[in-house]
Amino acid sequence: MDLLASADPVAEGELICSGKGCPQEARWGLLWNNPKIHTPERNKVWLACDDHRAHLEEFLRLRGFLRQTVPVAALDRFDPGERP
Ligand SMILES: [Zn+2]
Repeated sequence: MDLLASADPVAEGELICSGKGCPQEARWGLLWNNPKIHTPERNKVWLACDDHRAHLEEFLRLRGFLRQTVPVAALDRFDPGERP
């Protein structure tokens, strides 16, 4: 099952949920890192609306990639995440 938009990196300046086909404004930033391909100091970020936050967190948590979830207001600049 493909939960996530794959070829749709977050456009600069737009904070739209990373959930597949979801047009909602993101309220959460999910910080994650795949230790196999990212150095430890890097944080990839997925954006999530209230509806998709739990789905996306679970996706990352199951793979051991999830670090933390923060409000989008707490994101400074970020590195939009491609699929792990
Ligand atoms: Zn959403």
